[in-house]
Amino acid sequence: MNIQKQYFINDKELISSKLLSWYDEEARVLPWRSDPKPYYVWVSEIMLQQTRVETALPYFQNFIHTLPNITALAIADEQKVNKLWEGLGYYSRVRNMQKAARIIVEQYNGELSSKPEELVKLPGIGEYTAGAIASIAFGMSVPAVDGNVLRVFSRLLASEADVDLPQTKREMKALVGGIVPKIRPGDFNQALMDLGATVCLPNTEPKCLECPLADLCEGYKQGIAKELPVKQPAKSRAIELLTVLVIVLGNKVLIHKRENKGLLAGLWEFPNIKGFFSQEEIQDYLSNFHIKPTSISEIGNAKHVFTHKEWHMSGFLIKTDENSMPEGTVWANSHELQTIYTLPSAFKTFHNVAESVINRA
Ligand code: SF4
Repeated sequence: MNIQKQYFINDKELISSKLLSWYDEEARVLPWRSDPKPYYVWVSEIMLQQTRVETALPYFQNFIHTLPNITALAIADEQKVNKLWEGLGYYSRVRNMQKAARIIVEQYNGELSSKPEELVKLPGIGEYTAGAIASIAFGMSVPAVDGNVLRVFSRLLASEADVDLPQTKREMKALVGGIVPKIRPGDFNQALMDLGATVCLPNTEPKCLECPLADLCEGYKQGIAKELPVKQPAKSRAIELLTVLVIVLGNKVLIHKRENKGLLAGLWEFPNIKGFFSQEEIQDYLSNFHIKPTSISEIGNAKHVFTHKEWHMSGFLIKTDENSMPEGTVWANSHELQTIYTLPSAFKTFHNVAESVINRA
């Protein structure tokens, strides 16, 4: 593979000037752009991993309003931080952010470093995020290469190199690093991010007729842009079957705290059992916890897709009049569900059922 084509190197100034002119016209107005404090850029970049701008925007505003600086994040109660993230998913992102905030307060005087090589030492900050923070918040001329940028450059070059290979990533990063301008490096990186998100779209026909780089794009000229980038086929996910129990006592529902490590660590869930259980089996199971149902009814199925696994869930509404509380559980009312406990969106279907039942009680 040789992605450092001479053609491309010659065009590097043209690429940055065309991109920046386009960005001046088309850039989305976003709070972390209007006021690119390092903390704001960091929070926005972490939120935007796996989340669209439109979704992240209200979360960003609420997060910054509640935890306005790195020290506030470092000392915040973990449960409160999770609650601010509720609905965004991938909670390890915010856990790592809080761990990093504590390190920054303890070791870096509460300030993010401007150097990518220092930033990558912090939990949850990889090369892309370090490049984004350094260029956008500190004006450092460094690349920020994520999946969007790999796609744009694979298409620009008509490169058939597998972008999942570390060598390809390294070469692309070196290539983009040679193109990032000394002036407005943050805008250049954000222009590339915007181009990937709004014009050079993934898994579909890119909008080449709207693209400022169309006359430089080999993939477009050769009519192969949509087929690029070349990636390794996605691995199939493991499927886990779960029976989810929405156990209601008057205006409260029983919730359980997950372990502090692993998937959805430290969050709250409805009690659940691996496998699909019948009503009789559920009754037996509950008797172990001294919960005697007054009624059991099916409330439907739901599916949640994680990166490496899928949960296929079958839900039951269980009404009881016994105030038993198995270890690690609490009875929560609607207000507490909304303000204190974080239930991941994997349980959204059952959360909605629980809310409607306890609110009617
Ligand atoms: Fe992507 Fe098309 Fe622009 Fe090439 S011309 S960078 S394929 S949108």
